[in-house]
Amino acid sequence: MNTVCVRAEKITDIASALSRHYLKIIAGGCTIVPITDPLTGKYGKKYDGFIDISGCRELDYQFLDGNIIRIGATTPVSGILNSAVIRTHAPLLIESCLKLAGTQVRNRATTGGHVVSQPNGDLFNALLCMDALVSVKNYSLHSRTVNINDIHNANGEPVLSDDEFVCELAIPIQKGDGKFIKFRNKSCGTINMSRVSSRYCIGGISGKARIFSKAGEVTKGLPAFKAHIIKMMYQDVNA
Ligand SMILES: Cc1cc2nc3c(=O)[nH]c(=O)nc-3n(C[C@H](O)[C@H](O)[C@H](O)COP(=O)(O)OP(=O)(O)OC[C@H]3O[C@@H](n4cnc5c(N)ncnc54)[C@H](O)[C@@H]3O)c2cc1C
Repeated sequence: MNTVCVRAEKITDIASALSRHYLKIIAGGCTIVPITDPLTGKYGKKYDGFIDISGCRELDYQFLDGNIIRIGATTPVSGILNSAVIRTHAPLLIESCLKLAGTQVRNRATTGGHVVSQPNGDLFNALLCMDALVSVKNYSLHSRTVNINDIHNANGEPVLSDDEFVCELAIPIQKGDGKFIKFRNKSCGTINMSRVSSRYCIGGISGKARIFSKAGEVTKGLPAFKAHIIKMMYQDVNA
């Protein structure tokens, strides 16, 4: 069978293509292109082809809606960094994006692709700390809203079905200050931590980032050096 390749320019293009074929979504391609081969099924499921949603301008936006910031799924990480609304109302997201890869990746990687594929990612961590909601549609344009904490199972695998796609992130503006830090070394790997008021989020110690309120909750059972790093990070986000 020939490989199906669709370029979606509108939300209805995505829904219509997903209703007709079994397609793998590509957004920025930063995760999917380097590590998976959806056509042979060698690393997972075998699809009929691809749907490239990176040109779907309808999903490339950021705006303030009352006390909610809305970010479209094809907004690149650089779009978040360049957004005056996000800079003013959600500086934690800016801090996390400044730590995410380099300019080339930030220009390609999309908000939706990041949320689906990076349960320990930098932006994901900040979005989890801010209690974001993920708006999802399926092939028949039926919508549902999922808390970002429920987008992955405990192993960090996305729970969306293959005919669903992320459309939007809705982020409540938080009262109080926030901070994001990232630590990386050979023994610990990469650990990231966010704080908004007294809500903390840590990524890089299990299958997916998790919310906690005191450092002791996440250091139990970890090697002493890792627990020490986490305690230091906890002090840093509170400084
Ligand atoms: C060199 C390099 C350095 C990196 N450094 C960092 C770093 O420092 N910190 C960090 O946090 N991350 C880092 N990353 C990971 C990066 O954040 C992700 O690769 C990127 O955010 C994925 O977004 P994308 O749009 O490219 O997704 P894609 O690769 O296009 O897709 C990823 C997955 O999400 C699915 N998907 C995409 N969009 C949607 C949608 N709208 N609805 C449903 N499913 C969707 C795809 O089917 C695929 O399974 C790095 C990546 C690279 C290549």
